[in-house]
Amino acid sequence: MSTLRQLLAWGEETLRQAQVPDAEVDAWELMETAFAVEKSCYFLQRDDKIEDTDRERQYRGFIEQRCRRIPLQQITGRAWFMGLEFEVSDQVLTPRFDTECLVEAVERLLVPGMRILDLCTGSGCILLSLLARNPRIDGVGTDLSAGALQVACRNRDRLGVQAQLIQGDLFDHVTGSFDVIVSNPPYIPSEEIGGLMPEVRDHEPVMALDGGADGLDFYRRIIREAAGYLKPGGWLAFEIGCSQGEDLVRLLSEAGYTGVRTGRDLAGQVRTAFGQLPQKNTNTDNADGPAGPDGM
Ligand code: GLN
Repeated sequence: MSTLRQLLAWGEETLRQAQVPDAEVDAWELMETAFAVEKSCYFLQRDDKIEDTDRERQYRGFIEQRCRRIPLQQITGRAWFMGLEFEVSDQVLTPRFDTECLVEAVERLLVPGMRILDLCTGSGCILLSLLARNPRIDGVGTDLSAGALQVACRNRDRLGVQAQLIQGDLFDHVTGSFDVIVSNPPYIPSEEIGGLMPEVRDHEPVMALDGGADGLDFYRRIIREAAGYLKPGGWLAFEIGCSQGEDLVRLLSEAGYTGVRTGRDLAGQVRTAFGQLPQKNTNTDNADGPAGPDGM
């Protein structure tokens, strides 16, 4: 019979030997989940013999999964995004900290009463965090994957926000017009997927990653079709790969969007791109439009 302290040391060492990055952090998070124990309780109980063998077995199973490079969040079934807890599974892209700068930039565009559309919603993290944090915004999200949509629906219900979630290819079954269309679409060039870290390459849904030969397929399609769903002066807001800024500026400008700009994340990497549909009957940039997603 072992103690929590011994089990944690075993978990850390096992992960380290399997060359899993951040072994110490992950071994602890998995213990916290398996034993439902917070740090303060752990310190009080760590030298007691473990009596709950089911939990011990679960912990050992978690460590074994992590050694196979299953992402930590898929093992625990949850991820934090914008301070909110989201359910995740192998059906969705794990919400990433990097994506929070897109949410923050979109928030600067929002005014109560607006409608937003989130394409490729996945876990729903972008749409649902926007709705949870901004009152009186109407939201619609779509995703081609039925498995992803189920996760998004559960996240919506757990967070207690109202959102219409639609299974379909980008704008399929979407009606009406929107003030902001936001998307973090798949944007990895197909050939680069094999070189990604094993957690992503082997365990995240490839359809959430693969952006076609140059990674830009979804941006091209969304930019082409979005004008039919944006109100005059409405914004298109994307997460993009750090080397895709110039391409996005070109694609948005060629399609007639104004106020085209990119934004950086906290690490200084280009991470977002924006364009505004011109106001009706004006040629001037942002004549009466919202302030824009600046300040990044
Ligand atoms: N919108 C989701 C996210 O940002 C999923 C994105 C995707 O599947 N490409 O995490």
